[in-house]
Amino acid sequence: MPRLAGHLLDGISIGGVETCIDFPELKLCFDLGRCPDAAVLRPTVLFTHAHMDHMGGVAWHASTRELRNMPPPNYVVPRENADDFVALFETWRRLDRGSMRHSVTPLGIGEELELPCKLLARPFRSPHRVPCQGYGLWRRQRKLKVGYLGRSSAELRELGERLGDELYDWTEIPEIAFTGDTLADVVDREEVVRKARLLVIEVTFVDERVSVEKARSKGHVHLDEIAERADLFENEALLFTHFSSRYQPYQIERALDRRLPPHLRERVHALLPPGGPGFEVEER
Ligand SMILES: [Zn+2]
Ligand SMILES: [Zn+2]
Repeated sequence: MPRLAGHLLDGISIGGVETCIDFPELKLCFDLGRCPDAAVLRPTVLFTHAHMDHMGGVAWHASTRELRNMPPPNYVVPRENADDFVALFETWRRLDRGSMRHSVTPLGIGEELELPCKLLARPFRSPHRVPCQGYGLWRRQRKLKVGYLGRSSAELRELGERLGDELYDWTEIPEIAFTGDTLADVVDREEVVRKARLLVIEVTFVDERVSVEKARSKGHVHLDEIAERADLFENEALLFTHFSSRYQPYQIERALDRRLPPHLRERVHALLPPGGPGFEVEER
């Protein structure tokens, strides 16, 4: 399990098959295509869009947590998916005869949510074939205002009771950006994608077997589009995900080595699919 830009993470992501990006220390994951066993432990799940390879595991997640007597999870879903998401669970409850306890937090572009790990989640639009949103996760950091420096701790306690947050200057640090499925345009449009300490971005296609044009028509990123934008990324680390099932892990590594300039390549990690002959599916 790697630690990238300070964040321990794990996961699996294969285009059209399943995606789940897991942050065990933050007690959350993004998307549940097929719900890996470890993701059952996460009480908060943020969903990017309703394609089956990103949401298909949600009923199993809720049900399995209930069977293990774990607290009900909270699902953060794009606002435009919320009604259908609730209806999906109503249907599953009738089928399963279980209560499948959980809560739903609809969250749209321009809104924000403080997560249990204290990071602030702010969705942004990721252009895809169906409505999709990525998430920026921000850490708020406080520093005593200059005027209060040097006060005793008793004084500060008394001031804190009176002034609360006013005692501090607040800054926000973009810790993580996760794009979900998207066109490369999201890099140009969203500052948090370029500046987050850790960027998790889909790069479904990596070589000439699928052209940039074809990748765009499917609503996905081609590695050549990342290479074109190499100078835009200010991130400490980037994790590439959602590779097409047509590629073997060594083919992905080779494409990254050949197509990315060294100053970007050295910060890029690939969430490689398990090797061996898998089945090929259309990317979603
Ligand atoms: Zn997908
Ligand atoms: Zn998709």
